[in-house]
Amino acid sequence: MKISVLPGDDIGPEITEATLDVLQTVNAKFDLGLEFTNHVVGMASHKKTGTTLSDDVIADAKAADGVLLGPAGMSAYPPVAEGGRNIPGTIRKQLDLYANIRPARSRPGVPRAVPGLDCVIVRENTEGFYADRNLFHGYGEFMPTHDSALSLRLITATASRRIAEVAFRTAMQRRKHVTMVGKRHVMQVTDGLFMREVEAVAERYPDVALREIDIDAIAADLYSRPEAFDVILTTNMFGDILSNQANALAGGLGMAAALNVGDVHAAANAGHGSAPDIAGRGIANPVGLILSAAMLLRHLGSTREQPRYVDAADTIDRAIDAALANAASRTGDLGGKGNTASVARAVHAGL
Ligand code: ATP
Repeated sequence: MKISVLPGDDIGPEITEATLDVLQTVNAKFDLGLEFTNHVVGMASHKKTGTTLSDDVIADAKAADGVLLGPAGMSAYPPVAEGGRNIPGTIRKQLDLYANIRPARSRPGVPRAVPGLDCVIVRENTEGFYADRNLFHGYGEFMPTHDSALSLRLITATASRRIAEVAFRTAMQRRKHVTMVGKRHVMQVTDGLFMREVEAVAERYPDVALREIDIDAIAADLYSRPEAFDVILTTNMFGDILSNQANALAGGLGMAAALNVGDVHAAANAGHGSAPDIAGRGIANPVGLILSAAMLLRHLGSTREQPRYVDAADTIDRAIDAALANAASRTGDLGGKGNTASVARAVHAGL
C-alpha cells in the first residue's frame, strides 16, 4: 500500500522522521508492502515553489492508500492568496475526511495521567460552529450591525448519521458503549437533530449501549470517573475541546494521536500543533504521531482485511507502553530526560 508523507513544519519533520523509522521497521517485520512517498510541504515548500501545499502533493495524497501528516505551522503562513494553503484543512476537504478520531488512554508510568482513562472521541469534522467547515463557506459568522455578531451552527441529518456510524463501528471493536455529548435541552434544535439521528443509528447496533450526557457534565466526569467512558460521540467544537481535555488527562498533548477518516481515504495526523517553541532541538515527543500512524495501519488493516496491518499496529502500541514506562527514554513534556531519538530507540526495542 502507498503512504503519502507530508512532514509539516517546525517539529513536524523531526517527529515524522522518528515515525517513519518505526513504520519502516514494522513494514519489514510484518511484510506489509508499504511504499512511502516523501513530500516537502509547509514553509519549506513555500520558499521553493510559492505554495505550502502544491496540487501535485494533493494529487499524490488522493492516489495513496493513506496519508501521514505532520503538524503544520499555519500561524506563520502567508495569506492564502500568497500561497499559504492550510495543509490539514485542504487535505481534509479534498479527501472528504469527515470523522476525526482521537483516542486518549492513560499509559502506565506516564506522570499526571488519570488512572482508568481509556476512551476514543469521535468528532464530526465538517460542520457545527466552525464557519470555515460548513455549508455557509466562511459566512457562518458575521456582524449584522457594528456591535453585534452572529455565529451559525450547522447540523445536518446526513453528517450526523455518518459520524454516528463511525462511532458505533468503533464501539463494536471496543467495550460496546457510546456516550453522545451535547446540550440537548438548551440547543434543542441543533443538538436535538444530532441526537435524533444518533438514536436512529443506535437501533441497528443492539449490542452497543448508548447514553447521553451534557458537555458540562462530561468535562467534570472525564476527570472524576474516566472509566465510565468508552466511545464519546459529539459535534465539531465540543469534540475539539473534549479531545484536548482527554489528552491532557492522559498525560499531555505530546501523546495526542488522531486519525481523520472518510469513506475512501484516511490521514494520520498528530493531535497537537507544530510546537514552534521547541522546534529544531530534537526534544519533541514523537509518540502522538507514531500512535496516529499505528491508527492508520489498524484502519487500513480492518477496512481492507489485512490482519498483518492490525498486528503491526498492536505491536507499535505495546512498544510505546514499554517505552513510556521508562523515564530515561521519555521526553521532557512527560517528565523524562530523553529526547526524540531516545523515544524512537526505546520504541524500536519493543517492536
Ligand atoms: P495549534 O494551534 O496548531 O494546535 P497550539 O499553538 O495550540 O497549536 P501546540 O503547537 O500543540 O499548540 O503546542 C502547545 C504546547 O505543547 C507548546 O508548549 C508545545 O511545545 C507543546 N507540545 C506540543 N506538541 C508537543 C510534542 N510533540 N512534544 C513536546 N511538546 C509539545
